[in-house]
Amino acid sequence: MTRFESYDATALRAAILAGELSAEQATRAALEAAESRGTALGAFLHVEGDAALARARALDARSRTDGEPGALFGVPVALKANMCLAGSPASCGSRILEGWRAPYDATFVERLLDAGAVPIGATNMDEFAMGSSCENSAFGVTRNPWDVSRTPGGSSGGSAAAVAAGIVPIALGSDTGGSVRQPAALCGTLGFKPTYGRVSRYGLIAYGSSLDQVSPFARSGRDLERVMGVISGADGRDSTCIEAPPLAIEPAPQDLTGLRVGVPAEYFPTDLDAGVRSAVEAGIDELRTLGAEVHEVRLPHTRYAIPTYYVVATAEASSNLARYDGVRYATRATGDGSLQGMIAATREAGFGDEVKLRILLGTYVLSSGYYDAWYGKASRVRTLIARDFETAFGEVDVIACPTSPSPAFALGEKTDDPVAMYLSDVMTVPASLAGLPAASVPCGALERDGRELPVGLQLIGAARDDAGVLGCARALQEARGPVAIAPMEGAAR
Ligand code: GLN
Repeated sequence: MTRFESYDATALRAAILAGELSAEQATRAALEAAESRGTALGAFLHVEGDAALARARALDARSRTDGEPGALFGVPVALKANMCLAGSPASCGSRILEGWRAPYDATFVERLLDAGAVPIGATNMDEFAMGSSCENSAFGVTRNPWDVSRTPGGSSGGSAAAVAAGIVPIALGSDTGGSVRQPAALCGTLGFKPTYGRVSRYGLIAYGSSLDQVSPFARSGRDLERVMGVISGADGRDSTCIEAPPLAIEPAPQDLTGLRVGVPAEYFPTDLDAGVRSAVEAGIDELRTLGAEVHEVRLPHTRYAIPTYYVVATAEASSNLARYDGVRYATRATGDGSLQGMIAATREAGFGDEVKLRILLGTYVLSSGYYDAWYGKASRVRTLIARDFETAFGEVDVIACPTSPSPAFALGEKTDDPVAMYLSDVMTVPASLAGLPAASVPCGALERDGRELPVGLQLIGAARDDAGVLGCARALQEARGPVAIAPMEGAAR
């Protein structure tokens, strides 16, 4: 391991600008780590070595003092495989998009490149971001770098594992119902889902369009702020993107004096894992030590969040995935030779079981005669869940709770039981349905089978208070000290 791999992006950029190493050296170190640790973890679907090195050399050739160097100058980053980087494969973890290459750059990718970031490859994910363990990828599982017999969480498990294992300091994932916060918690990194619309979705391959948000992983609070400052901001190419300038990188909060933190009883059920409970309580104590006042709040509709989410998300997915018909994108099966037959055979061969299940469910809840009873009702419950939060944010500034009800679970443990898998998202989907900003911050660890597993504390903020959540996340992370690189327990070296 080179000494630079343990640096966060802010420190790495500073070292490059100070001439301590070149962007090319930083990129080479990341590519080597992707090859060694990344391969052991199954973190990447595709590594783009030559293109990354060419970009890094171009940065090195530019005088570092020429104008303002970008906020991510020379920093290697990883992108989830549902993100468009022109010319690169973006399979979404699906056979149906195998071999498809993005024809253009996503807005957030364009902004990363303008800021001097160096994308090194596409990370593994549950097929079309449907899952909580990365086991729904058509191209193999990703492993948790704290214990390789366990899942990294999902669906952005590859990006989480890449950051946790110190391969890259920053990776992007997408969070529809928790797909960045939950793997961040299970892998011991920070993760942040912005307010819906804070980051343009142009160039993010759609799953549930009213929920999807591009969301970063990092190992420090200041890195999260740095990457959000780059990717956020208005975009004429996405009509759901908020008309606001990019988030500003604020000076670090010295303490949290006067901050009102709400703790919802609904997120601490009696069957909550005891190790998770005590680590999250320790995190809340830390917020208190930093000056915050802790209050109890109620979010009474929380228990409807999972069924509501799985109606809304599958409805939107069934519509978004209709475009994979064998005509426009990568894979085509012949079928019986007719147009209908070709479409059916392509979808039959190209989609995995979980995706098919969700298309069926989504089509059902939208079908005439059932729409009111399912999709219509779910939309109304979604409003009630959002109102719970509005009421709570009349009393407190931020809500603190667990990110996930359990630590990383074993590979295979939940694959036969979709409901158990869906319940992994019980603490992340409410903020998604309400469109609120929410972070996961490492708050401690517990021991399972002789191995240390990380626990994440979730901070949820009021709509558009991304800066408030990021500031609180940063204060908590800095009070707890640097986030460790995962030891890769159990990996063949
Ligand atoms: N696990 C949830 C799902 O399967 C959330 C996924 C996500 O946020 N992309 O839908």
